[in-house]
Amino acid sequence: MQNEKKNIIIAIDGFSSSGKSTMARRLAAAVGYRYIDSGAMYRAVTLYALEHGMVGADGTPDVDALVAALPDIDIDFAVQSDGSQHTMLNGEDVEGEIRRLRVSNAVSPVAAIPAVRHALVEKQQALGRERGIVMDGRDIGTVVFPDAELKIYVDASAETRARRRFKEMVEKGAAVSYEEVLANVVHRDHIDSTRAESPLRRADDAISLDNSAMSLDEQDLWLLEQFKRAVGE
Ligand code: C5P
Repeated sequence: MQNEKKNIIIAIDGFSSSGKSTMARRLAAAVGYRYIDSGAMYRAVTLYALEHGMVGADGTPDVDALVAALPDIDIDFAVQSDGSQHTMLNGEDVEGEIRRLRVSNAVSPVAAIPAVRHALVEKQQALGRERGIVMDGRDIGTVVFPDAELKIYVDASAETRARRRFKEMVEKGAAVSYEEVLANVVHRDHIDSTRAESPLRRADDAISLDNSAMSLDEQDLWLLEQFKRAVGE
């Protein structure tokens, strides 16, 4: 269903592994919008920091070094022949690398650095200038696009989310335990919702969705209904 009438901005926020990206990707495909994964951008900056020795053994980033390196970090998305997008870091495809636990474990402290957020929010806002996008993240409805016409806040228990992420990782052949994944989810929830700079919170005008017991088809239907309402169909 291509929407010719009105190109809106759709913001989907929520905790890690809440199914936001699947939801955002499927909705974007259904309505002919571009999907942008803002978390991938924070992950790419984190990968850069890891590869340049800017993350200590205890996971603490070297803030000064990373902030100084920000002008050297170019992040982009390359559309693949099957329509999916791969995250590019300085021209290199890092889509696989940024999903690994080493990056997941280091990303939240990097995403808490104000200068990192400012640089990425600016880039995200530029990507949304032409509208007709679905962007998912933690602060899309509150900070990046406070005027987005449709805001969805996704929630599900940490256990449900960890089970999903664990299944995904095992399917991709990663050697991880459920306990490790759960610990990472709980740890990131804590940092993401308590950081000083744009912590994860539900925008006042966001619609909440707990998708713990929803099938993907039910979720798609629900999303399309919200989309139609937002564009006034
Ligand atoms: O969405 P995903 O889990 O891939 O995001 C990785 C991390 O990036 C999050 O845990 C969070 O720390 C950070 N993030 C953020 N703001 C966003 C998107 C992601 O702080 N808009």
